[in-house]
Amino acid sequence: MNRRTFLQTGLTLAASAFLEHCDGYSTLEQSIEIDHSIITAGNIYFYPGTDMITSQELSTLAERVQSNFNNVGIEFKSISITKDFPQLDRLDLVLLCIGYFPAPLERGYFGGNGINRDNNIKSFFKIPYDEFLISANVGYINITATSSETTRKINLEKMTVVATHELAHGLGARHLFNKECEDEENIFTINFGESCQTDHPSFMITDISTLTKSELKTASFDPTNINAMKKFIRVILSDEKYAYPQNRAHLRKRYLSEPIFI
Ligand SMILES: [Zn+2]
Repeated sequence: MNRRTFLQTGLTLAASAFLEHCDGYSTLEQSIEIDHSIITAGNIYFYPGTDMITSQELSTLAERVQSNFNNVGIEFKSISITKDFPQLDRLDLVLLCIGYFPAPLERGYFGGNGINRDNNIKSFFKIPYDEFLISANVGYINITATSSETTRKINLEKMTVVATHELAHGLGARHLFNKECEDEENIFTINFGESCQTDHPSFMITDISTLTKSELKTASFDPTNINAMKKFIRVILSDEKYAYPQNRAHLRKRYLSEPIFI
């Protein structure tokens, strides 16, 4: 674990802020009772795969992502930036931050298909994990997709939302679709960023690229995904079978198979 920078665990969660946040969704999903408990997931590892983002920017990104989860009662054992690929326990997540890559990438992706097969990110970065561990515990964000083409200046707000979105998938969060805008038949073929605006900027909407600067700052988790992630964390910790990456990957897939419509 050399070159590993531990960030402050930043226990920034204020109970009052948390409750306020959740109340803000009362008009969105009135029937949902939000799980207000505070729960601890695993370690988060940001892998700096590009010099497009400075280590200072990466630290800021990691801190902002951490507080997005803390704000809804999800804490992590630690958040660190490391070029090693550490041993991963059940809820540990690796997020690769990719800049240059010799093939087109999604804006972000969590899990096996995007890393093992589509682009062969696994061999490019010499990721030592097997297919199942990658499916269960590894994602990436594409730094070039959230930076200006001409100046290469990164958009940290947008990147924070994308990184939060991908890590949330790693904890069982699902896509949130605005059914007024999107075609329910084709939700699995809609490209990330192609659909229309929503009044409720959840981290888990698919149309992040249309969010304004202030919406990026006010984005949060929707109640359904707050509950789903906490349930996912509890289930993974509660049963010995989830010590096996294959079973974790399977559970995550099951969680993600039902998109949420608002
Ligand atoms: Zn997604």
